[in-house]
Amino acid sequence: MYTLNQILLALFCLFFLNVSFTQNEKELEKNPIIVIDPGHGGKDPGAITAQGTKEKDIVLAIAFKMIVLNDTLFDNMLRLFLTRYTDTLIALSDRTVLSKTLKADIFISIHCNQAINTTAAGTEVFIYPKSEAQASASNYLGLTIQKGLADILGVKKRGLKYGNFQVLRDNNSNVSILLELGFLTQSDEAIYLSNQESQSAIALVILQSIMKFLGL
Ligand SMILES: [Zn+2]
Repeated sequence: MYTLNQILLALFCLFFLNVSFTQNEKELEKNPIIVIDPGHGGKDPGAITAQGTKEKDIVLAIAFKMIVLNDTLFDNMLRLFLTRYTDTLIALSDRTVLSKTLKADIFISIHCNQAINTTAAGTEVFIYPKSEAQASASNYLGLTIQKGLADILGVKKRGLKYGNFQVLRDNNSNVSILLELGFLTQSDEAIYLSNQESQSAIALVILQSIMKFLGL
């Protein structure tokens, strides 16, 4: 995986490449709507590292970093909304309400993985095909994010899978994926995912991948 200095250099370069963007309110309204669903929350911690860091906190931190980077580096080119902004548990059935109400273009549920086999490592993307167009678009976004995390940050890829998850099944966005960002049961990934700078780098790669997918 890449060092902090390399990640910061990438962030620095991106800032200068994109610093000239300015949009007025009307232009902002046309920007694509992305709903990010940080998994778990409240009494449901999700996976937990050996050091006690919880999945629910890692995914919320990454989601918040996406909001900050979208604002500071990309002048809010995407309209980002989170299904939760605090440490609360939202029912699975309610997680898709926001994306339905907003008619979101893209829905991404973000998670960290766990396994009994503590050597299991890497990212996984899940899609639940509802139509050929939805499956192919979700597939493409998922693979773009996974490739970005592998090429830029050096995170291993475990491929794209079909997942019968309620947040995907209930969703009617044109594009919806569930992203497993790595294993909290694998020591290197646990440290990486718990680190704030790595979380910023992951957030940035997801944002860039979404923009690449959208042709922005
Ligand atoms: Zn999870």
